[in-house]
Amino acid sequence: MIPKYVDVHCHPNLAGLKENQDEVIATMAEEGVLGVVVGTNLESSREAVALAHKHEHLFATVGLHPNYTQKEEFDRRAFAELLEQPKVVGVGECGIDYFRQSTTTAGEVGGEGWKEKQWEVFRQHADLALEHDKPLMVHCRPSKGSMDAYEEVADYLEFMPHQNVQHSSVEQGRGTQEVVQYPDSAQADIARGRKGVERVERAVPRGNMHFFVGSLDVARRFWSLGFTTSFTGVLTFTKEYDEVVREAPLDMLLTETDAPWAAPVPHRGEVNQPVYVRHVLDAVARIKGISPDEASRAILQNAERVFGISLGARVA
Ligand SMILES: [Zn+2]
Repeated sequence: MIPKYVDVHCHPNLAGLKENQDEVIATMAEEGVLGVVVGTNLESSREAVALAHKHEHLFATVGLHPNYTQKEEFDRRAFAELLEQPKVVGVGECGIDYFRQSTTTAGEVGGEGWKEKQWEVFRQHADLALEHDKPLMVHCRPSKGSMDAYEEVADYLEFMPHQNVQHSSVEQGRGTQEVVQYPDSAQADIARGRKGVERVERAVPRGNMHFFVGSLDVARRFWSLGFTTSFTGVLTFTKEYDEVVREAPLDMLLTETDAPWAAPVPHRGEVNQPVYVRHVLDAVARIKGISPDEASRAILQNAERVFGISLGARVA
């Protein structure tokens, strides 16, 4: 196949698409869609890796979603083993989710200590990303009407020196090798962005902010850290994120579906499919005022740079 599109975040490994997985994946190949199959816990991560091994146009990321950190112990060794497998191109999805807790009766979703647990597990993913020299696939969702989770994750990353993540050096996409460990309490302070905490000598992981729904201000913070932002079918039914897409440097944008969720127009209300990523690409092109071909080329290149998806090898 000749790749035309890339869906950097989809879940054919989860209920909704799993039932017709073969068909979903075959259609992607027919339509020239490369896909990153994202794990949300150990089991679905293993399945993502198996799919990537089976299909030339699929790649995998492995991680424990922040909404599962209270349900499943993070088995760091098992994830580290998966990261050594071929075609595993990133760590995640992982991150911080305050939205569910903020929209549900307190305690119902997370239980006691849910916030601390999310941070502890996220930091472990960041460590793994550096150890294995892989990008992070970050799920970040603030409380309703707030940018809190984005601000805190940006604080966490910014409190580390970023010699390797200036925008101009994103090309290299490599962390430095020196990783200095620091105590957990310091990590928690850094995560909260408290003043008076000394910067620690440590490399910053690279990565992508998946399903980006933040403000232009927080987007700029992530771009300057070298993190890309990926957008979904949401672009097809609201103009809320048009400004962020318009202002984004073309090399910091990615497309995704998050299928089976968030189907774009004209498929609203259906189960989302990775092939619908073309509607996301069209939306990006329209908002940026460029041709779909130009957008497609740029986004395929970005996916190659960030996730190391080797496009040359994909062209049949
Ligand atoms: Zn996801």
